[in-house]
Amino acid sequence: MSSPPAELPDNTGPSGESNPADSEIEIYRHSSAHLLAAAVTELYPDAQCGIGPPTDDGFFYDFLVQEPFTPEDLRAIEKRMAHIVKQNRPIERKLIPKVEALDLFAKKGQTLKCELIRDKAGDLVQCYTMGDFIDFCLGPHLPSTGRIKAFKVRESASQSYWKGKEGNPSMQRIYGYAFFTKEELDQHLHRLEEAKRRDHRKLGRELDLFSIADETGAGLILWHPKGGFIRKQIEDFWRDEHLKGGYDLVFSPHIAKIDLWNTSGHTQYYKANMYSPIDIEGVEYQLKPMNCPFHITIYKSKLRSYRELPFRYAELGTVYRFERSGVLHGLMRVRGFTQDDAHIFCRADQLGGEILRVLDFVTMVLRAFGFERYDIYVSTKPADASGTDPQWEVATAALKEALETRRLAYAVDPGEGTFYGPKIDIKIKDSLDRAWQCSTIQVDFHNPARFDLEYIAEDGKAQQPVMIHRALLGSLERFFGVLIEHYAGAFPLWLAPVQAVVIPVAEAHHEYARNVADKMKSAGIRVHVDDRPEKMQYKIREAQVQKVPYMFVVGKTESADPKVELVSARHRHAGDLGSATSLSDWIAKIARFSSERAVSEGEVPMAPRSGGTGPQPVVSGGVR
Ligand SMILES: [Zn+2]
Ligand SMILES: [Zn+2]
Repeated sequence: MSSPPAELPDNTGPSGESNPADSEIEIYRHSSAHLLAAAVTELYPDAQCGIGPPTDDGFFYDFLVQEPFTPEDLRAIEKRMAHIVKQNRPIERKLIPKVEALDLFAKKGQTLKCELIRDKAGDLVQCYTMGDFIDFCLGPHLPSTGRIKAFKVRESASQSYWKGKEGNPSMQRIYGYAFFTKEELDQHLHRLEEAKRRDHRKLGRELDLFSIADETGAGLILWHPKGGFIRKQIEDFWRDEHLKGGYDLVFSPHIAKIDLWNTSGHTQYYKANMYSPIDIEGVEYQLKPMNCPFHITIYKSKLRSYRELPFRYAELGTVYRFERSGVLHGLMRVRGFTQDDAHIFCRADQLGGEILRVLDFVTMVLRAFGFERYDIYVSTKPADASGTDPQWEVATAALKEALETRRLAYAVDPGEGTFYGPKIDIKIKDSLDRAWQCSTIQVDFHNPARFDLEYIAEDGKAQQPVMIHRALLGSLERFFGVLIEHYAGAFPLWLAPVQAVVIPVAEAHHEYARNVADKMKSAGIRVHVDDRPEKMQYKIREAQVQKVPYMFVVGKTESADPKVELVSARHRHAGDLGSATSLSDWIAKIARFSSERAVSEGEVPMAPRSGGTGPQPVVSGGVR
């Protein structure tokens, strides 16, 4: 640490953080943290202040108090903050000699601040006042509290430890949101509400899609029939498209001799994510964390000629990776998952073409699921890497060129490639504009060398192929979680486990309802008849809750003429679509939307976006 200049007498950031606030929004949010601390100390004079940095959407401040803050306390604090804003108190910088500062904070009972000053301050202690409230801080801040226009205190406080260390005093952390304008704040709060409503764990339960059971273990997913059906649709589509796209489908076991992982380098580089070996008749086997070595072994099973290359081996391969229980999260972070994996073995002169081909494949597949907006990153050579500089340059250039050819905007992530090669990472943007890492395209020079891969070149000499690792959806589990949240459980017709419900108005119409359903079934529509002795409105509501795309109500009018089959149609989003309409028209429409894998049904958007950015700009190529 360098000695601080006289003008900046300490090296403490926003209320004890290690960096000063450096952007307008950070300064704004950090000033809001001071506002919070001022309100808390005025309402609870015994409260000791910890630290209060800005966050991505606001700020927090840690307090040492006798009793945890109640929701009523938090409301009172928010009110007090609004009062201080109204007073428009100046926020003023003061330089105070260390001895005096220690005395001042000690008199206010701020023992923790004294500790920070002793640890971090120089001879002159930089403080900021907000009326009577004073804080030890590097700043900078807004000139006065009146500049804070839009903030909100979160409904509950959480626990933290002083200086983040377990065993230290337990603090109460109050979070707040802060934005430049009321509109921005409201929009953010709305998005948070939406995210809660779309939470895949909640919808997974409500729609009976999947579960995670104590009896089976944390991070291990049980796919229920409806979730299982959606997975089947995804897998069928995936396999068909891979066969069309020139891939071969392969399958590999869940365990393999540990030697395989020694050769691949996993036991060396990846050990922390692997489970303990399994002893089988005195030989160690490993539960697979990756599929690559299996596909490599298939490649190696024969002598390969330059004429046969490229080989494209694809597998929905289930892998097991250790994740600490604390980081597991629904479908998003699990211990066992199925990668939609493939490995391409090609000649160096084929690399560019293959990358472009994969890129086109990725965008086609993602579009089928309704994802058209991405954040794309090209990761370049890290400090500790395998392969030569020219190899890295050629491969990195090939990745960039493919993106530029397709006019896809990307940013460069310097030094973030894997140790074996550069990569493209594609984060898909969902309907709330959140980015999810799904697709990856990775060039690999390392494994072909480790495993002595060869092909016989035109001149009869042995050559080493290049490998591409790629996944389109990433993990089926995670992708399913993203899909659930993107569509808020209202899946497009081609994925929906139940596409339509027929609802007879009374028992007299049960037979007609079954007839309607049979007609639909023979056209391949997934339909059932709700003939329970419940009220029609109740059945509609339930189909609505289950997000069934279409509901067909049948009663006296619809069944009057046996030669003309009529239904009254409802859509989960659009509501009433007309009474006594033609059944055969609906069958044709649903069958078409389904076979076309439409992500919207006619005029009805499936996943309306709330605000956010417009279409992707063309190539930017800037550094992230
Ligand atoms: Zn500050
Ligand atoms: Zn791989």
